[in-house]
Formats: sequence, C-alpha cells, structure tokens
Amino acid sequence: MSEKPYEIAVIGGGPAGISAAINARVRNKKVVLLELEDLCHKLRHAPQIDNYLGLISPSGQELSERFTEQFRHMAIEWHKERVAGIFPQEGTFALQVKDGFYSSRAVIIAVGISGEDYLPGEEDYIGKGIAYCVTCDSRQFKGKEVAVVGHSREAEEDVRALAEICRRVVYLPLYDHPSGFGENVEVLAGKKPKAIIGDGQRVTRLELEDQKLDVDGVFLIKEGVPASILMSKLEVKHGAIAVDNGMATNIPGVFAAGDCTGEPHQTLKAAGQGEIAALSAASYLDQLDQRLQKGKQAPQSTVTITRH
Ligand SMILES: Cc1cc2nc3c(=O)[nH]c(=O)nc-3n(C[C@H](O)[C@H](O)[C@H](O)COP(=O)(O)OP(=O)(O)OC[C@H]3O[C@@H](n4cnc5c(N)ncnc54)[C@H](O)[C@@H]3O)c2cc1C
Repeated sequence: MSEKPYEIAVIGGGPAGISAAINARVRNKKVVLLELEDLCHKLRHAPQIDNYLGLISPSGQELSERFTEQFRHMAIEWHKERVAGIFPQEGTFALQVKDGFYSSRAVIIAVGISGEDYLPGEEDYIGKGIAYCVTCDSRQFKGKEVAVVGHSREAEEDVRALAEICRRVVYLPLYDHPSGFGENVEVLAGKKPKAIIGDGQRVTRLELEDQKLDVDGVFLIKEGVPASILMSKLEVKHGAIAVDNGMATNIPGVFAAGDCTGEPHQTLKAAGQGEIAALSAASYLDQLDQRLQKGKQAPQSTVTITRH
C-alpha cells in the first residue's frame, strides 16, 4: 500500500482490468491493480477462443499467459486483495481491503460477473443483517449468532474472525473438505442456502433446503462483491454497472469496464472497454489538475480535490 494516493486503482485482474492497467501505465499514471485471485483466472477456463483478434484459436490459458506476460513486462504494481467497498473521500476514493485501505484519485471497476444470483430475501436485508465483509461489519454481531456462507476456502479466515466475537457461528462451506474450527463453530457441509427470512426490519432466519437456522445475521462471502454493494449510489441497470461511451459511471472519477458493464460477456469487448476506461480516467485526472492549476473548482465534481 502506497502512502500517497494512486492516480488510478483498477479493481479486477481479468482482460478488462489488465487492459485498463496497461493503458493507464502507457498514459504514465501511477496505477495499482487489485485482484482477489490469480490474474486472468476466469479466462483460463475457456477451452478455446475463436473470436479474439489477431490470434488463431488460442486456448484461454494461452491467451491469459499473453495478457499477464505483457502486464508483468510493464512492471505494473498489483496486489492480491478483495476490495469490499469503495468510499469517496476528499478528492480521493478509499478502497477497503482486508487489512486497510488503498487510496486513489480515480477508480476503474473491472470485476466481471460473479455468476451468483441473489438469494430470495437477500436484497431486502442488505445492511439489515445481510453482510458481505467481515472486517467492515462484524462489530454489529458481537455476542450474537450468525451464519456464514463461504463460496471458497478464503472464507475460513472470516469464520475464525467471527468466532472470536460471536456467540455462535454456523458455517456453510460451498466447497469440498472444509477445515476444522473451534467449539462455537458448527460446520454444515454439503448444505445450500435457500432463502433469507426477516421480520421486515432485520434478518431472523436462514433457510436451507431441509433446515431452518435462527440467526441474527448472515455473512455471504462471495468470490466477488456485487457491483451495487461495492459502492453506494453507483448506478446499476439490470445487474450491470451503467456506463456512458467513455466507460464513466454516474460517479465522477469512477469508471467501469468488461463483463460487469453488461453483455456481451466477451474477452475482446472487455479488453477494449478497459482501454477506453483508462483513457477516460487519465483525461479526467488531467482535467482536474488543469483546473487545480487555474484555481477553479473541478468539473462535474462535488468533492474537494487535494493535490498530493
Ligand atoms: C468457460 C469459458 C469460456 C469462454 N469462452 C469465451 C470465448 O470463446 N470468447 C470470448 O470472447 N469470451 C469467452 N469467455 C468469457 C471471457 O472469459 C470473459 O468475457 C472475460 O474474462 C471478461 O473479462 P473481465 O475482465 O470483464 O472479467 P473477468 O475475467 O471475470 O475478471 C474479473 C476479475 O475481477 C476479480 N474480482 C471480482 N470482484 C473483485 C473484488 N471485489 N476485488 C478484487 N477483485 C475482484 C475476479 O476475481 C476476476 O478475476 C469464456 C468464459 C468462460 C468461463
């Protein structure tokens, strides 16, 4: 983590994020990329890509290697981090990760699609017992009973953290061979969540296919974070982040690219949008700097810009 804010932070290391980071670097911006897994891990699953320009039917693995090789060649800084939230601050954005925050003047969201639908009831209780980030939300469940749904082994650390502050934790691992935990953690392996039930104000129960769990809260530790949760007031239409032709979202300084902006979910489109987002972010920063130099207020921005 840099003490000074980055100029552009890219969230997601798929084709869109890698393309955005490379183009931001070409524009000589101080850039960081945050990716929760390995770079390009989704594309690696594609057996064969027949519609990428300039390469005849590479496998997803081959194409991913090419992307990551170029990324490494550019010596772009990246960290294995899961971004849990983006918060506007004075002239910068704070990107919350497990152990702190990254700070950046512009942000490009390139988080792809998680492929997970909301559970029935989930959207009704976001912030009212439904939580996605243990670091951010665990305190409100001190001494209470919670359920944790873990989509990957990474969630186990969250379960341990919750076990230290909650009276009881029921863990539903949605993967094979979960680890063992302490006394106050009950592991329900092989069970799937079906619905979130509440009293209109707060979550009261998690329903499984054949069981009902009375709990005060449910942590859903998904592989990604739904775009609407990542940043409040970010405009989302039909599950995709709404962007204009320049990949700008409704929030000045925040851009988006790739599958998270909607269909078609394709590599070439993701890479192209990543480039546009980076160029737009660079122009946005250049305009802010010009305004600052002229001592005028920033365009379209309601935040105070602090120069670092
Ligand atoms: C089996 C398969 C076959 C395919 N075949 C083709 C094909 O033939 N042709 C084609 O064009 N496309 C194909 N695709 C689609 C292609 O893989 C996607 O369109 C492309 O990867 C989208 O790129 P992206 O960068 O937008 O998203 P992704 O590649 O999904 O990258 C998003 C990244 O963001 C990361 N992330 C998510 N949330 C966070 C967070 N909160 N913090 C940090 N990181 C986060 C994810 O881990 C992920 O690595 C195929 C996909 C699959 C799975």
